[in-house]
Amino acid sequence: MFLREAWYVPVTFARQYGSRRSLRRRQLSQLNRMLAHARARVPYYRDSPDYRTGPLRSLEEVAKLPVIDKEVLRGRSLEELLADGVEPGTVPTFRTSGSTGRRVTVVHDTRSHDYHMAACVRRFLATGRYLPTDRLSHIRPFAPPSRGFQKAGLFRRHVLLTDRPMDEIKAELLEARPQVIIGYPVHLRALLRALDAAELTALRAALKLVMTESELLVPEHRALLEREFGAPVHDEYSAFEVLNISYECAHQRAHLAEDRLLVEILGPDGQPLPDGTEGRVVVTAFMERAMPLVRYELGDVGRIDTDPCPCGRRFRTLRLTAGRVNDAVLLPTGRQLYPDTFLHLAATFPGIAECSVVQDREGSVRLNVVPSGPLSASAWDELAAGVRDRLRTVAGCDFPLEVVRTDSVEITAGGKGRFVTSEAVVPRPARTAPA
Ligand SMILES: [Zn+2]
Repeated sequence: MFLREAWYVPVTFARQYGSRRSLRRRQLSQLNRMLAHARARVPYYRDSPDYRTGPLRSLEEVAKLPVIDKEVLRGRSLEELLADGVEPGTVPTFRTSGSTGRRVTVVHDTRSHDYHMAACVRRFLATGRYLPTDRLSHIRPFAPPSRGFQKAGLFRRHVLLTDRPMDEIKAELLEARPQVIIGYPVHLRALLRALDAAELTALRAALKLVMTESELLVPEHRALLEREFGAPVHDEYSAFEVLNISYECAHQRAHLAEDRLLVEILGPDGQPLPDGTEGRVVVTAFMERAMPLVRYELGDVGRIDTDPCPCGRRFRTLRLTAGRVNDAVLLPTGRQLYPDTFLHLAATFPGIAECSVVQDREGSVRLNVVPSGPLSASAWDELAAGVRDRLRTVAGCDFPLEVVRTDSVEITAGGKGRFVTSEAVVPRPARTAPA
């Protein structure tokens, strides 16, 4: 495993710079191999007439196949989705924390996971600022497994678990004097609020790079982290179902890992959109064999930028815009407000550090606000009135809205900020494939 991972490292580097034409040719042949495998070995695909087609003649033909999403993973048994003979637990197996009540399991095969791990080296070095000997502190909800090369002094990381008291995290971080900090944006913002001016100065002295992961990072929050930490911020986009999706180069553009993935952007009618147009992100990780997910919709919205990147990488770049669109507030007009609305609100409204929103089944909305400092009762009333007005302006309509003061934003069992929770019934978008 480790040897194959090490061998993949130079391969993942070289593939960033190949021609678009050879990349697309390779994507098509890999996709066809995955489809042939899925049709022959995986009950879910074998038993469905939708997948009884010959090899695709072009990447565009993938649009003939259905789009699947988390509902398929929840609704089907694991046996139906796994290739014949695969034993979960003997291969990399990921489970959601079950914060929504229904756990989802995804199994990756070892070869595909090794390639992804090799591509993580590429992710770090693509920043143009990271050295494998750097002192790195990783603020995260789970401890990662220890890896062989870390004993050799490379890619070492000091892990700080997010469920510990902030005072302990802060003290340990100041002691470690990291050159690189990695964390979820919500935890990094909480850290900044906890540090006093002298502590921040001490931390900034060694810090040269901040890396964010696992949550939508809006531009205002990136600017805030860069300003306060005094170091550039590089974001990463991944999902446990398909592993790393994009990583940022020195120009802070998010290159898609197109040597592992076919990424499509779909419109409301389920049809692929041209590059440059915003739509739903759909991914096929075509190296997977244990549990192939063909055209998997992640629930995120973004657009692929068309300009070539000055870094020379030939992988296209993605800009995520709205965040998970299955988390949305449903307005009386039928319009939905996605997590980016509330992240923007927190980032731009004076006096607010964080905010999150809960909508009940009847449509009433409660906005939880964490003020950025101590407030008198009258100052709070003024802030609450102001934020109520702002949100109604953003929404473009009136709706039942209560603004509540709170101390911290809720963290999910998976360690992410819970910015939007809605029980309102949202009409499902069309997701049928053309005949
Ligand atoms: Zn680039």
